[in-house]
Amino acid sequence: MSVTLETLIDRSITNMKEGIHPTVKEAAIELIKRAFKENIYVLITSGYRSMEEQAVLYGQGRQSYVYNGKDYGDPSKPIVTQVKPGKSNHNFGLAIDFVLLSDDGNRAIWDVNDNWIRAANMGKELGFKWGGDWTSFKDYPHLEMKDLNPNSSRPMLRMGDTGEFVKQLQEALTRVGFFTGKCDGIFGEQTRQALINFQKANNLSADGIAGPNTWEALER
Ligand SMILES: [Zn+2]
Repeated sequence: MSVTLETLIDRSITNMKEGIHPTVKEAAIELIKRAFKENIYVLITSGYRSMEEQAVLYGQGRQSYVYNGKDYGDPSKPIVTQVKPGKSNHNFGLAIDFVLLSDDGNRAIWDVNDNWIRAANMGKELGFKWGGDWTSFKDYPHLEMKDLNPNSSRPMLRMGDTGEFVKQLQEALTRVGFFTGKCDGIFGEQTRQALINFQKANNLSADGIAGPNTWEALER
């Protein structure tokens, strides 16, 4: 039996994680649908990746890689990326990785064949930039949104706001050591105070509102 469109979409949404940018998510789903019409079975294997997850990837194949005081070095594995935490568009929910599946959906097909190129081109039509076009290091599964920049894709956040971006803000503040509360996606007084302290420490206007400059500072 052939894999269903619903299964491909469901599995892909799970793999992209909640932190995926909504525009990227929508385009990824459209890519899966368009490819499916041509009997090309696209599965998104990865989307949003936290800084820690990126540190784990970067540490692979390296003797030592210290990030936030923790050593992620793991020389027993091969090198998989040259991109450090905060430098990958995956860390901002702006990139996805895909693979093609066999007709029954049980097997991943990693050959960069005609169907793979076709899927990549569909991605490009939807506004993605394809890692297979890169000149230095070719990253065939990788698609990223070229017209969304990480800063402008982050909304202004203030007290009372809720949702995935608030959660990302709390996670970022936790990572830099200013927030010790629960990353629950609710911008309350504790989040505001953490943000103000972070802004003061970074010579930003300490207004307790996360705007482009604050986001940029958090992502450095
Ligand atoms: Zn990627």
